Amino acid sequence: IQRTLAMIKPDAIDNSPDIEKVIMDEGFTVVERRRVRLTRPEAEEFYGEHRGKSFYSSLIEYMTSGEVLALILAGDDAITHWRKVLGPTQVSRAREEAPESIRARFGDPDNDSNNAVHGSDSVTSAQREIKFFFPDLTLE
Ligand code: ATP
Repeated sequence: IQRTLAMIKPDAIDNSPDIEKVIMDEGFTVVERRRVRLTRPEAEEFYGEHRGKSFYSSLIEYMTSGEVLALILAGDDAITHWRKVLGPTQVSRAREEAPESIRARFGDPDNDSNNAVHGSDSVTSAQREIKFFFPDLTLE
């Protein structure tokens, strides 16, 4: 059993019931959940690796534009499994290559930031991101 951090982003928060249905249908267990509006410093910390990139300021703007829903998902190979369910980063590509994916179904094909969902990309980032949203949680 592995854990990953999933996040439903501001543009998709109204679709969270449908997205959570996908999460259940895919067999994940939701370990913890937290709905929160990120402050600018928090969003900058979460996406620190993208500082300096051309899309960084619009990404921060977007990520602080409304509430997000952070979920700890558990399951076999959860990190890779969740990334596969998300689909490609770019929604227009997701629609072509993975039309059933969450980004294809719920993301905005005209804005590369508004791709509906996030998923940790490695064990290290999953640990960091789980701690970011759930600092008081002690997982064995
Ligand atoms: P995430 O980390 O959110 O799961 P990812 O790992 O698929 O996404 P990254 O390349 O790490 O994608 O980019 C982080 C986020 O930054 C993307 O999910 C998207 O919201 C935004 N983003 C990425 N590339 C662009 C771009 N070219 N223009 C605007 N926003 C972008």
